[in-house]
Amino acid sequence: MIDGHGLCVQLDALARISSQADGLTRLVMSAEHRKANDLVATWMRAAGMRVHEDAIGNIIGRYEGLQPEAPALIVGSHLDSVRHAGRYDGPLGVLAAIAGVAALHQRGEKLAHAIEVIGFCDEEGTRFGATMLGSRAVAGSFDDAALALRDDEGISLAEAMQRFGLDPEALASAARRPGDCLGYLELHIEQGPVLEALGLPCAAVTAINGATRLAVTLTGTAGHAGTVPMAGRHDALCAAAACVLAVEDAALAAGLVATVGRLELRNGAINVIPGEVHFTIDLRAPQDDLRHRTLASLEAQMRHLCERRGVGLKVSKLHELAATPCAPHMIAAIDRACTGLGLEPHHLASGAGHDGMAMAALCPIGMIFLRCKGGISHHPDESITPEDACLGASLLLEVMRAPGLTSVNAASHKF
Ligand SMILES: [Zn+2]
Repeated sequence: MIDGHGLCVQLDALARISSQADGLTRLVMSAEHRKANDLVATWMRAAGMRVHEDAIGNIIGRYEGLQPEAPALIVGSHLDSVRHAGRYDGPLGVLAAIAGVAALHQRGEKLAHAIEVIGFCDEEGTRFGATMLGSRAVAGSFDDAALALRDDEGISLAEAMQRFGLDPEALASAARRPGDCLGYLELHIEQGPVLEALGLPCAAVTAINGATRLAVTLTGTAGHAGTVPMAGRHDALCAAAACVLAVEDAALAAGLVATVGRLELRNGAINVIPGEVHFTIDLRAPQDDLRHRTLASLEAQMRHLCERRGVGLKVSKLHELAATPCAPHMIAAIDRACTGLGLEPHHLASGAGHDGMAMAALCPIGMIFLRCKGGISHHPDESITPEDACLGASLLLEVMRAPGLTSVNAASHKF
């Protein structure tokens, strides 16, 4: 049903629209954004969709259902990239959705609901620093303060929009009404190695992880490395080493991910006992209560470790973002579609952020992960097989057709 070869040809053609020859770079409101939208629009029209570009520069194709103006299932992903990116993170979800609609169109099949395919203009935040500009505009949560953000060349988002042919004053018109949207569905590469290791092509995402980032300061007593006996020391780095391992232990015990990505020893010298150490903790989990409980016990553990060594501990929060659960009926629809295609249903949490985080404010969300080679993403080596691309698109199509999606309407959405 899915033209897998055609999908791969389109993925390769879209990947050639890049501001750099070596690796892919496609930024929001750029000449490449314009070319990508135009090319995607031609594919949407060929698949039987009515196409328009909204007020933030998202490209949107609509395939009507049996009833005109029926509520739509929104299916899509993003067309922008990080710098020196791969070709599947984002475009796969947009082009697979178009391939699904093309299959429906070819056999004259109409659904009880409409399908709208959206290629979001910006998810990565590469140019202006603020992420998910496209999906936030659609969900009605766009912060107008973002219009004043400037890129590396000093061009504001508002100016860039005008050069692109968009009116910043009209931004609110991109927002959709909840009653018009049945849900948001996205196919995305996993960006991790789990599915490949399990030998499974696809999984339903349970939630997009919430995250907490902490800054930790340990204050010990600096001293002469030769004269202060070991027994009387308050070595801040030894305390930090114990704390870093406690972070790893806490994550393993709770089944979540936590990372100490920065560690700095103040005034370090070969012959000085470390007096002050700073490090960061990034901790992510699919459930907020699990994240909070793990953080509380980790902090108690670190406090205990530091007290034993006579080292002061200060923990401050840098950032906190709640988890975004996927809707149970969307997860169930993905599981059923997997079974229907002879695939073993599997569930994974998403460690990375996605447009669904913004779209969840508007409607229930569902996500499918597709395995990718070595879990590599945000790099030109990002890779999937043509067979998997076809399988992912087939699964997406079966979920798009799932009758269960229309029985739970947006009014019952309670996130
Ligand atoms: Zn992505």
